[in-house]
Amino acid sequence: MINDMKTRLALFVMFLTVSVLRAAGPVYVVLWFDTEDYVEPGADDAALRIATDLTGLGVRATFKVVGEKARVLEQRGRWDVVRALALHEIGYHSNFHSIPPAPSVYLRDLGYVEGAAEFERRERSGALDLQRIFGVVPSCYGQPGSSWGPQSNTALRRMGIPVYLDEGSQVGLDSQPFWYGGLLYIFNMGKYSMRAPLDGAGAVEKSYEQFDHAASELAARGGGVISIYYHPTEFVATEFWDAVNFAKGADRERADWRRPRRRTEAESERCYGILRNYVAHMKSVSGVRFATAREMLQLYGSPVPASQNRAQIAAHLATKQTFLLTGQDSLSAADIVLALLGMDPQVVDGPATRMASTFRGDAIPRAAFQRAKADTVSFVRTNQRLPAEVWIGSEKLSIGDFAATLAADNGTSANAGVHRANLQFENYFSTDPKGSFNWAIHPEGFSAPELLDLGRLQGWTLKPARLR
Ligand SMILES: [Zn+2]
Repeated sequence: MINDMKTRLALFVMFLTVSVLRAAGPVYVVLWFDTEDYVEPGADDAALRIATDLTGLGVRATFKVVGEKARVLEQRGRWDVVRALALHEIGYHSNFHSIPPAPSVYLRDLGYVEGAAEFERRERSGALDLQRIFGVVPSCYGQPGSSWGPQSNTALRRMGIPVYLDEGSQVGLDSQPFWYGGLLYIFNMGKYSMRAPLDGAGAVEKSYEQFDHAASELAARGGGVISIYYHPTEFVATEFWDAVNFAKGADRERADWRRPRRRTEAESERCYGILRNYVAHMKSVSGVRFATAREMLQLYGSPVPASQNRAQIAAHLATKQTFLLTGQDSLSAADIVLALLGMDPQVVDGPATRMASTFRGDAIPRAAFQRAKADTVSFVRTNQRLPAEVWIGSEKLSIGDFAATLAADNGTSANAGVHRANLQFENYFSTDPKGSFNWAIHPEGFSAPELLDLGRLQGWTLKPARLR
C-alpha cells in the first residue's frame, strides 16, 4: 500500500514536471544600447568596446544610434566603431536627441496629420544618414528620454521603420510587446525591463535573481520578452552628456558644449565586466535567447490579421471598443471596424481628432446608414485612418458611437439602432501628462496632455502581440 502510494506520488511528480516542461515557452532578451553621446569622444570607444565584447560572446544586440552621433563617427573617421556596431543591428534614436526642441515639445501643439509630417521632416534625414553610414535601414526607433508622441508612428511607417523599441509610460499592455499604430511596440515593459546596475554594491547578484525569476515566469506562461538597455556613454561618464548641456530645454551653441565627467579607466573596466558577466549569465539560463528588434518582428508576425468570424467580432465590438484575442489572432478595435465594413485587413491609423456626436435620435433609417457606411469606407481608403466622425445627413456620429452602432446592427431591419461608445482601449494610456513626459531635457514643468489624448485616439489600433 505504501509502495503503491509512493509510485503514484512519483508518477504524479513526473506528470507535473512534464507539464511544466511542455508549457515552457521561449524567453527572448532584447538587449539594446542608446548610442547617443556625440559630445564625449570617449563614448565612441565605449560603443566599440561593448559591441566587440558582445560579438565575442556570440550575442547580437540592437544599437539605436542618434543621427548626429553617426555623423560625428563619420567626421572623426571612426570606421572601427561603425564596423563593430554594424555586426549588430542598427536602430534609430532621433536626429539630434537633446538639442531643442525635443520631439514631444515640437509635437505637442500639432495635430495628428500635421505632427506626423513634422516628425518626418525633422527626423527622416537622420535615418537616411544612418543608412548611408551603416548601409542598412534602421530596424527600430525609440524616442530620446520620455519625448514620445503618437504622430511618430505614421511617420516611422512611411520611413520604413517597423518596430518601436524603448521604455516609457504613455501606453502599455501587460508589460509585453504590443501592436500600436501599425508598429511592433516593445515598450513599457514594467517588471520585464531590467538591468544589472553599473553602480551600487551588491546589486549585481540581485539582478541575476531578478532575471532568473522573470525568465521562469515568462517561460511558464508560454514565452515572452525581457527588455534590457544601457547607453555606451554610461560606461565612460558619471553624468549624462546632455544633462550637462541641454537641461530644461537649454539651447547652447556648439562652441559652449561641456564634456561630461569621466569615469577612471579602472571604473570603465569594472562596468564592462558587469555587462559581460550579466550577458554570460543570461545566456546560461535554459530557454533564453537573445533577439534583435527585427528578429522580434519575425517572431511576432504582422499587425494585419486574417479574416474573421463576423458574429464573434461584432458581438465584442457592440459592447466594448477594444482589442479582441481570438483563437489565432489578435484584433484591434480598428481591425474589427474594417472587417465589419467589409474591407480588406490593413494597417490604418486611429482618428486624427476627437469629435462628439450631434445625432440625437435612437435609430438611423437603413438607406441613410448604408450611405454612412459607404462614406466611411471611402474615408478610410483615401486617408488610411479612421474618420473622427461619420455623417448621417447633416448630423454626425463620433467614430466610437458609429462603431458600436455598426457592430450591433443586424443589417436587415428597417433602422439601425444607435448604440453609444464604450472606448475601453483608452484604459491602456497614461493619465499623467506631467509624469509621463518628465525628463531633465524637457523645459521645466513640461506637460503634454494633448499628446496623451492623441495617443488615446490611436488606441483604436492597440492590441497584444502574440508570439507565432
Ligand atoms: Zn537617449
